Amino acid sequence: MGFGERGPRRTEIILKHPLRRERFMKHALLTLCLLLATSAAAADKQIAITIDDLPVISATPLTLAEKQHVTTQLLNAMKKHGVRAVGFVNEDKLLEKNQLDANVALLEAWLANDMELANHTFGHLGMHKSSVEQMKAAVIKGETISRWLSERAGKPYRYFRHPFTQTGNSVEEQHAFESFLAEHGYSVAPYTIEHNDYLFSCLNDHLLAGKDIGVSRETMLKEYLAHLDNAVEAFETMSQELFGRQIPQVFLIHANRLNGEMLDATLQRLKEHGYRFIPYDQALEDPAYAIKAGPSKKFGPSWLMRWAKTMNKKLSVYGQPDPAEPLMKAFNTHCS
Ligand SMILES: [Zn+2]
Repeated sequence: MGFGERGPRRTEIILKHPLRRERFMKHALLTLCLLLATSAAAADKQIAITIDDLPVISATPLTLAEKQHVTTQLLNAMKKHGVRAVGFVNEDKLLEKNQLDANVALLEAWLANDMELANHTFGHLGMHKSSVEQMKAAVIKGETISRWLSERAGKPYRYFRHPFTQTGNSVEEQHAFESFLAEHGYSVAPYTIEHNDYLFSCLNDHLLAGKDIGVSRETMLKEYLAHLDNAVEAFETMSQELFGRQIPQVFLIHANRLNGEMLDATLQRLKEHGYRFIPYDQALEDPAYAIKAGPSKKFGPSWLMRWAKTMNKKLSVYGQPDPAEPLMKAFNTHCS
């Protein structure tokens, strides 16, 4: 007997009987609800937002008004999307002639908008080229104003992010510095997703200064969002390969004019990827973040790549692909 010649199928029989039909429909409905609930749980991806180099970083000099504008744009975008971010401060950037008070007011605005401040050293010292003693001094000097402002605002002051996310040239160096951080009440601040925003930001600064870099601003901005998609995809792949699930991710970007303009669209894009924004401390509660990450040496990759090393696992991807060739060319010519 061929397949098509079989008698009435079981569902057909069930559906002909009114009581059975009702039970069948109820069961089908329940199954559908369960399926929807499962896919909703799968889509419940979480991400915390962290922003480095506060109050504002730029490849070209900025006026106070421009810095105020960037700060307002960043805070407005986060407010709109219900984001409570952590901002990592370089206090050397506050000490401009006649602008100390106004620069401090930028940090106060972060706190007033329910954000948290954290330490990113005085002078943005990279561990690859600095001694542990130099790093320690940069931490202490880098907390003077932010710690006081945070305490006054009743906010915690608890994270340290290594500039360039370089966590040491050796295990010994890493441990010596991290013991110091712990003694001073700091937790090391990991990240898992970045999307070369520093590269696009530098191009943006030159474009805004009217420089011809061989790429239009419109193309660059479009590419910036497309590149976010590439990065999200790559880091989600890593999370899946390491943990078999999507861990709460930590997004790292910088306080610059590019993000001032684009953060709203960036956060919207993350939402479209299925993300819900959570506070940083909540993301760090995930067991993944208890895994040790070794010293980074010169490059400061995502913690996902560091964990792969600790877990002795091979990943199928290492970071996102480079941005399109004309952008790389412009960056290599004008920014490095
Ligand atoms: Zn930085």
